[in-house]
Order: sequence, then structure tokens, then C-alpha cells
Amino acid sequence: MAEHGVAKVWRKQQEIYRIQGNHCTTCDRHFFPPRLVCPECRRQGNLETYKFKGLGKIHTFSVVRQAPEDFKRQVPYIVAQVELDEGPRLTTQIVNCDIESVYVGMRVRACFRKITEYGPGGIIVYGYKFEPTMRVTGHE
Ligand SMILES: [Zn+2]
Repeated sequence: MAEHGVAKVWRKQQEIYRIQGNHCTTCDRHFFPPRLVCPECRRQGNLETYKFKGLGKIHTFSVVRQAPEDFKRQVPYIVAQVELDEGPRLTTQIVNCDIESVYVGMRVRACFRKITEYGPGGIIVYGYKFEPTMRVTGHE
């Protein structure tokens, strides 16, 4: 693919994969993934689209050492439940972080990475992952 085409696709991906959920103006809660109805307010709820800042902290995590075929090159890797600053939790891969350095409560931010590719020159799938907000310097 030409340089130009890649840049164009990248811009589009940024839009598609921005972490988008919603916010209920009645109870001020945020939801991800987006809900059709606020589970708190039901019919009194008023949901609006909300783009998350992509900042949060690690709530729980585990290190994956065995992976399906498409992810084999990446093992071991960290999968965490991240609690966004706005409240919702989501499950995501943590990148740019040593498996020895990850801890519960670590501040992380969303970054957009290639998740998998199909065959030579095939389709590349992008999505959000999270990385530490502070560069982890490793061993002391
Ligand atoms: Zn509500």
C-alpha cells in the first residue's frame, strides 16, 4: 500500500477506535461499552455519546503465556482490566511494559496498536491497547 494510503487509513482508524461510550446526564455515570438505556435511571436516563480520555489504572491483570495462533508471537503478554478515570472497566492488553513491572494501580493510557494481521500483505487489524503513562525503567 502506498504511503499516502496508509496515512489515510490510520486517520480513519483513529476515529473508529477512539474509546467511545456514553454518559447519562441524569445520574452522571459513564458507560463502556455504550448502553442503549441507563441501567440506573432507565426511562429517566438521558444518554449522550462520550469519548473517553483513555486514562485509567490497572484494576487486575494476568500474564498470558499461551495464546491462540494469531497472538503467538507476542507471548508472554499482559491482559488487564483497566478502570478508566470516568469509572467503567474494560479488558485490554498492556503494552510497552515488562511483565515484571506491572502492578495493580499502575497508571495507564490508551494507545492504538496493530493487533493482528492476516497473511502476507493481508488485512491488518488495529485496536486500542494500553501502556504505562510513565516509562518503566525496569530493574533497580
Ligand atoms: Zn443514569
